[in-house]
Amino acid sequence: VLNILAKGLPVAAVEEESIASEMEIEPGDRILSIDGREINDIIDFQYYTAEMEFTLLIEKAGGEIWELEIERSEGEYLGLEVETVGCGGLKTCQNNCVFCFVAQLPPGLRKSLYDKDDDYRLSLTQGSFITLTNLSEEEFGRIIKYHLSPLYISVHAWNPEIRFKLMRNPRAAALPEQLERLAAAGITFHAQIVLVPGYNDGLILKETVERLSGFWPALQSIAVVPVGLTGYRQGLVALRSFQPAEARQILAEGMIWQNKFQKRYACHLVYFSDEFYTLAGVAFPAPEIYDDFPQLENGVGIGAKFAAEMESVWGLLPAVLAKRTVHVVTGISAGCFIRHRLDRLKSQIIGLNITLHVVSNLFFGETVTVAGLLTAEDLAGQLGDLKGEEFLIPCTMLNADSLFLDNQSIAWLEERVKGRAVVVEINGVAFLESILGYRLQEVSSDESTGCSYCGAS
Ligand code: SF4
Repeated sequence: VLNILAKGLPVAAVEEESIASEMEIEPGDRILSIDGREINDIIDFQYYTAEMEFTLLIEKAGGEIWELEIERSEGEYLGLEVETVGCGGLKTCQNNCVFCFVAQLPPGLRKSLYDKDDDYRLSLTQGSFITLTNLSEEEFGRIIKYHLSPLYISVHAWNPEIRFKLMRNPRAAALPEQLERLAAAGITFHAQIVLVPGYNDGLILKETVERLSGFWPALQSIAVVPVGLTGYRQGLVALRSFQPAEARQILAEGMIWQNKFQKRYACHLVYFSDEFYTLAGVAFPAPEIYDDFPQLENGVGIGAKFAAEMESVWGLLPAVLAKRTVHVVTGISAGCFIRHRLDRLKSQIIGLNITLHVVSNLFFGETVTVAGLLTAEDLAGQLGDLKGEEFLIPCTMLNADSLFLDNQSIAWLEERVKGRAVVVEINGVAFLESILGYRLQEVSSDESTGCSYCGAS
């Protein structure tokens, strides 16, 4: 009995008026087995609850063991959300990448930020990138048996020696065979390439993109993102960022590949992160270039989508507004893009007083330019006294618990800057509505597609 009690998968949430709530299953209960089979993670759970009838053994929070006979009809949901993994915990990364962002974090941040998860189950449930270097043969077989798709795979380089050099793990060299095996089993995947000058750019990148493209349609997309370097690289391998001219060259070559793939596969297949365009100092491409935006959460296409969303409601903007003052806060990488649009707004709407605050990242170092990595301390230090006025911050600056990266709260920031914060989802329509202070209802209710970052609407 003690052995059983140490196991199981925690229930995260129970839907009201569902089979699970009728059975009085509650968040915090642990699912021990289904039809006598041990349940260790969400994969087990989904597989065994696909049946119409099964016996659920759960441990209640108080330690009681309940055996529940479940019977459901076709299309009827159990109404249970479970954690991704049980007491076995998440699989952690076995690599030591030269560009690892976790290794360049300053000390003193919340503990979870230093976690180096590399878990195929998170890839499936949250779209986290995995490297495949820590998979046992049994786990690889499980991915194939349960047809776990799509996976999100950090490729970085096709060439085994280069991938090994980047990830400093001999198992990194096995990628080509692993991808062959996944594709042959019908598993689909999205790929990511973190591009590091002098390591995997130039001909290495060309080879990686070309080889990966051969896996289409198992391969669904390739995202190329530039290496991110913080000011905390003491004792680490010396790396540098890309220069604007290099970024322009990469994008120019990328356009050739995109055109080729568009003709070959009817999709552009390879996409470059927004950071490459801002670094190169060129405008984001048309939204069509991103097809169905397969890697938005990886920072690929957010700017183009945001701009298109703004344009979709631009005709509804008023010519005059009763006096309104608002501050917009962003990071350096989006500064130019936002400034251009705010200038257009200001010239179009009489009575609208907008101030843009482009905040530098002093916490991580000024090489980190995205808004989502700004801390409350940096905002407080650079916004000044807002005299009780409203300021808009993107939701990407906050963690799931609504705290900033440095654990400060919105209330703390409001007090420091003497202003009223409005958290805005990453959506062009929502952004305009927050600036105006009212909803562009006719359009937003039907056409707003929610937050580009987290999907919330
Ligand atoms: S896979 Fe590489 S970059 Fe990712 S956490 Fe591990 S060491 Fe860091």
